[in-house]
Amino acid sequence: MADKYDAIVIGSGLGGSVCAALLAKAGMKTLVLEKNNRPGGKSMGISVKGFRSEMWPTFGIPTHGGPFVDAFRKLGIESKLDICPGSFALMYRRKGGKWTTSVDAPGQQVDDPTANMFDAWDLDAKEREVSMSILAEIAMFTPEQLDALESVSVQQWLAEKEHVPRPLHSFLATQCNLMATGVYELVSISEIARVMQVFFGGRSGYPRGGYGRLVDEIIGVLEAHGGKLMTSARVERIIVEGGRATGVATADGVFKAPIVVSNAGIQPTVLKLTGEEHFDKSYVGYVKDIVPSLGFTNMRYVFSKPVLEHGVYVATTEDSFLDVERLDRMREGVIPEDISVDGVVPSHFDPTMAPPGKQMMLFGTWCTPDPSGKEIKALHAKMNTLFEEMFPEAVPYIERIEGHVGPAEISSLSRDQVLPGLGGEACGLAVSVGYSGKNTPKARSPLPGLFFVGHDAGGTGYLATHRAVSSGINVASLVHFYWLERRSILSV
Ligand SMILES: Cc1cc2nc3c(=O)[nH]c(=O)nc-3n(C[C@H](O)[C@H](O)[C@H](O)COP(=O)(O)OP(=O)(O)OC[C@H]3O[C@@H](n4cnc5c(N)ncnc54)[C@H](O)[C@@H]3O)c2cc1C
Repeated sequence: MADKYDAIVIGSGLGGSVCAALLAKAGMKTLVLEKNNRPGGKSMGISVKGFRSEMWPTFGIPTHGGPFVDAFRKLGIESKLDICPGSFALMYRRKGGKWTTSVDAPGQQVDDPTANMFDAWDLDAKEREVSMSILAEIAMFTPEQLDALESVSVQQWLAEKEHVPRPLHSFLATQCNLMATGVYELVSISEIARVMQVFFGGRSGYPRGGYGRLVDEIIGVLEAHGGKLMTSARVERIIVEGGRATGVATADGVFKAPIVVSNAGIQPTVLKLTGEEHFDKSYVGYVKDIVPSLGFTNMRYVFSKPVLEHGVYVATTEDSFLDVERLDRMREGVIPEDISVDGVVPSHFDPTMAPPGKQMMLFGTWCTPDPSGKEIKALHAKMNTLFEEMFPEAVPYIERIEGHVGPAEISSLSRDQVLPGLGGEACGLAVSVGYSGKNTPKARSPLPGLFFVGHDAGGTGYLATHRAVSSGINVASLVHFYWLERRSILSV
């Protein structure tokens, strides 16, 4: 006899975990099946020789408000969120010049936050005026204006402006890589404006104990309400009977439920776990067409003493953003002369994340989402050179460089590869015009009883983890209503 549940959630990424815990708290008998031996997916916590962190540089939970606060409040564990503030260093280098650094530190009053940036860009008075007016326009967009601009890309929006200084153009193109994990020809100006309005308008930080601790707290709520998490339990198939999802099959057996919520990614769920034959052709075409986020590759620099002052480092140049053309060349193994890099030092925010007297930085860059991408090795070499140029004072204290990961590891920890060149998306799918904002894929699939949760569907938010968490909240509510309306007639 198969075990029976009210809902089965496939995957325990942030979206799946939040959704499952809320369903259990609402009284539904809930099972989570996770293919890895630990929960968390892309936000999984790891511990290596006393250094705790995520697999990759991850940052950006507001100290006040936002989906994490909403989720933890709904789960009754708001006091456990505990976001630690820290400093953020923006490094910029002009062609042939030296690195300049602008620091955003907690408690620091800055009269004009753009002044340092404009100095670093070496703008003249006229260029400052144009840049200020463009940034102000973005900052002042009303929700109605943002909705109206949903289908306009950053590149199209900028093309309408006159005399845009090249550094500002590059800055906005870079924000598309950094914040939306896409390219500026495809990312909507509304997405970037929402990020800039929220992210640059308030304080963000890093959770005490890391993102993995947050996942553990969420799973704690699931279990406290009778829900169950099974790890090392890969779902191989979603069972469809009588035209609806009725359960899942793993190597260890069959689990039945009238509701299956998949956090395994919209493409793997439709194309592999369920099978194209259960959807009409146009929906399958729609799913195959959804644009993926960029990939990311990084490594860990371990230092014999604390040498880096700030919590987050983002380094860019006028030419370091990835656009469609550079991404296409990367697919062929040709990497750009300049690249942007991102580093996070977890122990800056929470000293217990590193052994006493030591430090570690996760340091990486953007790439294609292809798990067999040809560019990864060359990018690692480039990052090492860049590190030495950015932080010469830290070089003598490097103990080791380890933990090289990229799209192949991202895919193996989260979504299975089902389409050529995809699977290692750093954030997920649906980061571009036509698939974001109000066009974000629907969480309710056309197959009765099957729902999607996580970054790809049903969420809103300015950073990827926020989208996943907000999807967890929204999908739990959608699924709970679906169950309440049908519980007397749903049987499997
Ligand atoms: C390199 C990198 C850097 C990032 N940096 C940031 C950042 O700075 N800020 C930020 O906000 N976000 C960042 N993100 C993105 C963020 O981590 C993710 O968007 C978010 O964690 C995704 O959550 P999710 O719920 O969509 O699911 P995922 O994390 O994708 O989890 C899906 C889960 O489903 C499981 N699963 C899949 N298939 C099966 C199956 N068949 N059976 C059972 N289980 C299955 C997986 O094992 C996994 O646990 C980063 C991501 C990466 C990779």
